[in-house]
Amino acid sequence: MSKIETPRPVRGTQDIFGAEAEAFAFVVETFERVRKLYRFRRIEMPVFEKTEVFARSLGETTDVVSKEMYSFEDRGGESLTLRPEFTAGIARAFLTDGWQQHAPLKVATHGPLFRYERPQKGRYRQFHQLDAEIIGAGEPQADVELLAMADQLLKELGLADGVTLQLNTLGDGDSREAWRSALVEHFSAVRGELSEDSQERLEKNPLRILDSKDPRDKAHVGTAPMIDQFLSAEARDFFGAVTSGLDAAGVAWTRNQALVRGLDYYRHTAFEFVTDRLGAQGTVLGGGRYDGLMESLGGAPTPAVGWAAGIERLAMLVGDRPNPVLEAVVLVEHEDGLAVANTLLADLRRGGVIADIVASGSVKKRYDRAVKLGPQHILRVNETGYYGISGEGSTDRIVAAINPLPSPRA
Ligand code: ATP
Ligand code: MG
Repeated sequence: MSKIETPRPVRGTQDIFGAEAEAFAFVVETFERVRKLYRFRRIEMPVFEKTEVFARSLGETTDVVSKEMYSFEDRGGESLTLRPEFTAGIARAFLTDGWQQHAPLKVATHGPLFRYERPQKGRYRQFHQLDAEIIGAGEPQADVELLAMADQLLKELGLADGVTLQLNTLGDGDSREAWRSALVEHFSAVRGELSEDSQERLEKNPLRILDSKDPRDKAHVGTAPMIDQFLSAEARDFFGAVTSGLDAAGVAWTRNQALVRGLDYYRHTAFEFVTDRLGAQGTVLGGGRYDGLMESLGGAPTPAVGWAAGIERLAMLVGDRPNPVLEAVVLVEHEDGLAVANTLLADLRRGGVIADIVASGSVKKRYDRAVKLGPQHILRVNETGYYGISGEGSTDRIVAAINPLPSPRA
């Protein structure tokens, strides 16, 4: 007899359950609370877009576009791509949905993203991000506000210690161009010692060599020319305004002159919140200013700044979270008590009490099962109705839920 084989999960995907899932939910709930404090409006975005949305905006030679996208033709012959990041789709919506009228627009979202990467701890093919963007704001104040929100989020997640904000400026177009030439000169001299990927980057996008994780490249990154000597006065002032704003807001930061981002659209401010507690996958949140992105999608020049944070990496730092405390279990000791038990259970839950019921299985074993759930209190129901509560601590909330005071009109 042949046995039917159960399909395996797709490599790089995760089924999240238990304490890990609670940690994931805690990250999302905290983000939702904090983004409201900063008045970021919630948006929901499609999981796929036309491939050109990402190809044009992220840069054809970036790792994401050249190697990591899940692109496919749909049945109508259109090339679509599962979103590898949020920003490009949000920028597309800003242009196609008339969101310009709301500028400056602060938006936030979260959800799954897809990249064909080599799976390892903290790196998956389907992963999840929190995302926050300010579109249509060119002032350094927007960068400050966005970073203050990220900083508060991490603090409220309990991650203030062990996560550092690393900050850099990539300058304006001119500064970047001058820096780029100097980097080409520097890395060309040691070309043969670079990784194969970086030899290719040297032609196409030398800045990205600075972001390489290959030890062969890292050796030469340390001695590479840094952005500061190429900054225009304007770019320097902009960065100065960002850093003094952060100081005033009490956001700690350190300068990392080698910090560049993996996507092509960044200008001026670039940043990462990093930790050494997750091994090689140490970046938990990253972003920056992307003043050139709207034009690459055919829109008018529109300054913008944003960040994204990996939910799985944040959840790992947060650590396992317990199930919420179970306040009450309704124990049905006799089948005839079931109706009363259901009324009781509904009252408890409507009264805001976290409650569960044990009403099936052998009657003898029900008490043991109720105890095993670990409730603060057990409410017992027999054939004559509700007759008693056991447990430790105050029963005020429970009594209030099941014995509502008569309303004044009654
Ligand atoms: P890395 O350098 O680790 O590849 P990245 O520069 O590609 O990161 P971004 O595109 O800036 O990452 O995404 C923002 C955040 O999303 C990252 O800092 C990280 O926390 C998370 N992230 C990115 N890719 C993955 C992945 N494949 N699996 C899990 N989390 C990820
Ligand atoms: Mg990456």
